[in-house]
Amino acid sequence: MKKQLFISTTLIMIAGLLSLFFASVYIAHRNNVNIATNTVMEKTYIFANLFNDIYDVDAFVEAGGDTRITIISSDGMVLADSLATEDTGENRLSRPEIQAAMNGAPAVHIRHSNTFDADFVYYALMVDNDDSYVFIRASIPVAQINVYLNQALPMLIVLLFTIILVCLFLAHVVTNRIIKPFIAKGIDDVAVVMQNGVDALREEKNKLSYILNSIGDGLFVVDENADIALVNLAATNLFNATSDVINRKLNYLISNKTLISAVEDCVISSNGTLFEFPLNGKTYLVTIKRLPNTTLTMAVLADVTGSRENAKRREEFFANASHELKTPLTAIKGFNELTAINNNDTNLTKYIDAITRETTRMMALIADMLELSELENTSQVQPASISLAKIVNEVSETLSSAINEKSIIFTATGDATITAEPKHLFEITKNLVENSVRYSNQNGKVTVKIESGKTVRLTVSDNGIGISPQEQTKIFERFYRVEKSRSSQSGGTGLGLSIVKHICALYCWRLSLKSKLGVGTDVMVEFE
Ligand code: ADP
Repeated sequence: MKKQLFISTTLIMIAGLLSLFFASVYIAHRNNVNIATNTVMEKTYIFANLFNDIYDVDAFVEAGGDTRITIISSDGMVLADSLATEDTGENRLSRPEIQAAMNGAPAVHIRHSNTFDADFVYYALMVDNDDSYVFIRASIPVAQINVYLNQALPMLIVLLFTIILVCLFLAHVVTNRIIKPFIAKGIDDVAVVMQNGVDALREEKNKLSYILNSIGDGLFVVDENADIALVNLAATNLFNATSDVINRKLNYLISNKTLISAVEDCVISSNGTLFEFPLNGKTYLVTIKRLPNTTLTMAVLADVTGSRENAKRREEFFANASHELKTPLTAIKGFNELTAINNNDTNLTKYIDAITRETTRMMALIADMLELSELENTSQVQPASISLAKIVNEVSETLSSAINEKSIIFTATGDATITAEPKHLFEITKNLVENSVRYSNQNGKVTVKIESGKTVRLTVSDNGIGISPQEQTKIFERFYRVEKSRSSQSGGTGLGLSIVKHICALYCWRLSLKSKLGVGTDVMVEFE
């Protein structure tokens, strides 16, 4: 910076001095030309006035001194010349200064003299002589004009270089004086800023590595070449690797080929994956995804052994409990049916009916709870291509007694092939149609519409009691029922829509609802 400032200051000063120097030389030259012009004109006028039929023209012209005086006859011949000893014999009438004088408009001309082979400043006047006329011409050699300038020039050049040297010295001193403290301060400031930046970065890095190493899940990040960019303690422990794997290939950290290729797939395609992976006798949920707006891919291995075992135990518990409950419930149901057959007491009938209703409800509840628990623990499905209209048909047959009981007008239109587990499609359709029937009035209308456009859409509509806007967000929660009594009376468990929601989440299908209180309800599933 200092050097730059010194060079630019010096260059500006030198350029300024040189411009000033050449401007001065030019002005001095112009000035000398003006002086010469005036001198030539003055002398011409003086000699023209003095010329009065002079007898000795040679003696007359010699009075010109430094100025060359020439007398030229009307026919262009030199009659006398103060400097030229020999005449070239040329006719001078064509000379521009003679022409100008002849035309009555005398003018100064600078031109080359053949006689002296040098440039001269000329001025001529026409003067009467006897019956004729002559031209009185004065001229000064151009060299004479510049003689003072030429004398002064070496001095000027020496002066110029002296000033340039002084300027160089001054530029050096000024640059040092001005820049040194500035640079010193600048360096200090930059050093402080850099130090602060380095400290902040170090602190951030420490924080990040502290956080990363405190995470129980194994975590590592790879770059666009699938080289390891970051790894936490849990991951190195998990793979029994050392921490010096940074910038190395993945196989320095992981030996399992499936895991390596899953990470590499994401590096290439940017598509994330989620899968369970057994390692060291445990189950890990592996999440691989591309970090947004980067070329980095992150993998997280969460130990889900505990939750999987819990889920399995819960499932087993539900299965066992339902089995244990089902057996006595079936017995109760059987004995109740026997009692009903053998009952002659009309007072007992309403109790028998109540027992029938409650046991049926309990059995439905147990079935729904089992279903939900199974769905919660399902992450993978075994899909098959299946006709949706076929499923709707099966559902309408299953629910035919309820449909007929309420004299519901049931219609189903359209068809499409869906890839899913058939029992999941059946559950969705059964729960939605069952709700529509359950919450419809006598002689109501229930419609199932299958549309296949960009995506396949299943819509179950009814003109039943409808759902108020504030209830619409809650009805997908488990055991939530708008009207508990109506739901229980008609065999509802409060789990139907939770089951539908879980199945849709499992397949990433879109579930939506449109309802108006007292008008009816539309529930839509979009199969994407
Ligand atoms: P339930 O077994 O009680 O029907 P769901 O989870 O299937 O349980 O439904 C939750 C609640 O949402 C129901 O209790 C009912 O209040 C309301 N609901 C569901 N479907 C409809 C519908 N088609 N029309 C009116 N209300 C409905």
